Amino acid sequence: MGWRAAACLLVALTALSAGCVGEGMPPRGEPASDGAATPQPVHAEGEAGPPAAAVQPPAAGEELAALSGGKRICLDPGHDANSPGASARDPSGRVIFNEHDLTLAVAYRLKPLLEAQGFAVCVTRNPDGTLVARPRDENGNGRLEGWERAQAKIDYVNAFGARVFVSIHFNGISDPSIGGTEVYYADTGPHEEDNRALARTLLDSLVSAMRSAGYWAIDRGIKSDNYKPYGRLWVLGYNDQLARKAHWQAGALVEVLFLTSPADVSFLQRPDALDIVARALLDGVVRFWEQRFGAEAAQARLP
Ligand SMILES: [Zn+2]
Repeated sequence: MGWRAAACLLVALTALSAGCVGEGMPPRGEPASDGAATPQPVHAEGEAGPPAAAVQPPAAGEELAALSGGKRICLDPGHDANSPGASARDPSGRVIFNEHDLTLAVAYRLKPLLEAQGFAVCVTRNPDGTLVARPRDENGNGRLEGWERAQAKIDYVNAFGARVFVSIHFNGISDPSIGGTEVYYADTGPHEEDNRALARTLLDSLVSAMRSAGYWAIDRGIKSDNYKPYGRLWVLGYNDQLARKAHWQAGALVEVLFLTSPADVSFLQRPDALDIVARALLDGVVRFWEQRFGAEAAQARLP
């Protein structure tokens, strides 16, 4: 357990701090979130799979405006085999499933649902789980740091011209009695209100869908991404360490359920669970889109 895990445990035992809950506490003391600060050796990323696609530099100005004129969205299935995140385990300690597998499964269930609604969809990981955009050692210190891993994703999403960005995660913490759903958003910058509105629709949609399906998911609320010692969640695009910030108009990071909560895990073991989650995220995105861009879309349809 590193200092952060120890601090998290201390806070969790005393105040059940939401900040530490969002961090997650997977086994082996490795932080669960893509906000993770643990440096990764560069060669470990190099072993992630087939060569990653070259990332186009972010479009700027008019070019970006043209790109983002349509229904463009990016999904970020959190973590990968080199940064597996949280794990659900049975009483003997055997892994039932890992966060990086669940996030990928949800993203590739959600992608065709969005496409059927007319969205162009990019996903930050390939169907085999590898990263689409390989992170670079931008500061040349010989290690891949958390912000550099996130930077590659942000650049890719910016280049795609996404108007909406949804990062998909599952939570973890040492206390198995803690469970439920929470959504993080960047409460800063020119898109603060849109970020909050997206987080709200995603949370409401997830909680109500699971409850309608017979699982009383705990509503843990929407939360600021600015709770970590080193600042905002990198992948939401507003951490000061980033070399290039987010260009999207609304972004949120969903922590669907806790993989360390037996109740949450029992729901996730249902064969229909991930489809329920994917459909709920679709519903949340579509509701946000209509609320945020509906008038604009109606205007565009006028002769
Ligand atoms: Zn995570």
